[in-house]
Amino acid sequence: IAANSRMLDVTPIAAFQDNYIWLIRGARDPRAVAVVDPGDAGPVQSALAANGMKLCAILATHHHADHVGGVAALVAETGAAVFGPARERLPVEVTRLAGGDRARLDALGLEFEVLDVPGHTAGHIAYHGHGALFCGDTLFSAGCGRLFEGTPEQMLASLDAFAGLPEPTRVFCGHEYTLANLRFAMAVESGNADIVDYVRKASALRASGRPTLPSTIGLEKRVNPFLRSRHENVKLSAERRAGRVLPTPVAVFAEIRSWKDTFR
Ligand code: ZN
Ligand code: FE
Repeated sequence: IAANSRMLDVTPIAAFQDNYIWLIRGARDPRAVAVVDPGDAGPVQSALAANGMKLCAILATHHHADHVGGVAALVAETGAAVFGPARERLPVEVTRLAGGDRARLDALGLEFEVLDVPGHTAGHIAYHGHGALFCGDTLFSAGCGRLFEGTPEQMLASLDAFAGLPEPTRVFCGHEYTLANLRFAMAVESGNADIVDYVRKASALRASGRPTLPSTIGLEKRVNPFLRSRHENVKLSAERRAGRVLPTPVAVFAEIRSWKDTFR
């Protein structure tokens, strides 16, 4: 297992409109790599060929096609080991993982702990280790996934689990949604100076064609309305929109999630 003092080497492979397939390089041999959520095989194959890398492992967070659509082709071509959620149906045989399990990427000399994070999908998992979190479509920078299969209770608990990780933890999300999410975050909390500051930084990154990711848990706790359901200003804003008192953090979370669903 790699020493924690060395930062995990992670780079984005862009796919579709706004997906990121995260490429993780091995701790022992940087040519031995893993990818997270390869929705499309093509861009991964190009990256492997361009850099002389060998795909040894695939990590899947949930069953949506934009995250697993490339898995079968990549496995057929490389024989990579595939890890995925125990409670979801994936296109190929996988090592089935659930909360508390560990994903051992032996060829990379890396190991991740698995978190159960239902909400976006019922069996969604996340991978945490080496100062990094691969959270799929559960947490986005300044936002969170839509509740396709889960309840607000489940999603809030999943986000709370992330909020409990160390603040420097680097957050690798499945999509580049940051600027759109920040417009919503501003609508919820216009007086939050950290959001204003982040809008400036994220806009500059996007203007130069760079990803806004990874984020960090510390930053998300300051700017992400869905991690801030317990803050008074977020609660007041949600109550203003609902036109009634929202007595619990789950009620506040549910209100801002449904607000975001129709926000333009
Ligand atoms: Zn998804
Ligand atoms: Fe997605």
